[in-house]
Amino acid sequence: MSSVHRSRMDRARTRMHELGIDVLLVSLGADLPYLTGYEAMPLERLTMLVLPGDRDATLVVPRLEAPRVEEQPDAFSIRAWDETEDPVSIVAALTGPVSLVAVGDQTWARFVLDLQLALAQSAFTKASVVTGPLRAVKDADEIAALQRAAHAVDAVALEMAQQHFAGRRERDVAYEFIQKMYDAGHERANFAIVASGPNAASPHHEPGERVIQVGDVVVCDFGGRMRGYCSDITRTYVVEHGTSEFVAMFDVLAEAQAHAVSAVEPGVACQEIDAVARRIITDGGYGEFFIHRTGHGIGLEAHEDPYLVAGNDTKLEVGHVFSVEPGIYLPGRYGARIEDIVVVTDEGPHSLNLAPHHAYVVG
Ligand code: ZN
Ligand code: ZN
Ligand code: ZN
Repeated sequence: MSSVHRSRMDRARTRMHELGIDVLLVSLGADLPYLTGYEAMPLERLTMLVLPGDRDATLVVPRLEAPRVEEQPDAFSIRAWDETEDPVSIVAALTGPVSLVAVGDQTWARFVLDLQLALAQSAFTKASVVTGPLRAVKDADEIAALQRAAHAVDAVALEMAQQHFAGRRERDVAYEFIQKMYDAGHERANFAIVASGPNAASPHHEPGERVIQVGDVVVCDFGGRMRGYCSDITRTYVVEHGTSEFVAMFDVLAEAQAHAVSAVEPGVACQEIDAVARRIITDGGYGEFFIHRTGHGIGLEAHEDPYLVAGNDTKLEVGHVFSVEPGIYLPGRYGARIEDIVVVTDEGPHSLNLAPHHAYVVG
């Protein structure tokens, strides 16, 4: 495993060199496990990887957390700090007098502010300029992990199509999604959106007390983490029957989603995938009701680079993995969304989610 981290650090150094960044400082969030295999708990005590462009890396970690760090002498050394020490001055000393430092995007502000005082001669930038493009391109093991996570939630989506929705509160159905994700092998359930009836018109609806009715459309978007990598899927359910109006709308959505996926190939700009979905939904008469971007990258984090949004001219590369999830939301009435995770390959798109797209009729 450590050779993986060693080579990721080397790639980070190459990019730092290109960007004129002298030292990368990484704390909370997914950059740290990506580079070291160790994930810091969101504590008030500072954990920080100090990765200089031209010297060995050091993981500064609270003494009591150090036993959880897997020793990787070829990738980095460990500097455990005691309760009476000042970790910021340790990091500052390891960083040295340099001109440009990149700090992890999710580092607590209190540490960033202290580091800026301790490294008053350095300019600061975001670590994601280094790590974002690296993490966006997945290797074979990462894709295999994402595939397993996707299979697991596919199974959950289909099992839920056998359940009864009518007469139950959204939050109870959401709880069942969460339970099933754990049963399917996830170590964490990140979210389960169950948006019924008029609530389905709110893309990130928080499942609540509303009792699901016969005739409701129910948008279910759920995901979690399995062996470190995230899942994220949306399927739309209808309770007993949908209206013909709904069916017509859903057909437009399904066509938009399928065409957007088909448009995926290396060299195509991220924004073009968004444009394909948006064009079809607009031509279908629902343009103003598609109120979010078409997709987001996924990996160690549920949302990461690359984003499929107008204005992002990043070209798709083999190994990019992202959601394709157009939606249509009619305020006060209902909504629908279809979401799959898609990998860019030499042969074009490869969808990791295989659960059918049609609206699932439930009791
Ligand atoms: Zn979302
Ligand atoms: Zn989702
Ligand atoms: Zn998503």
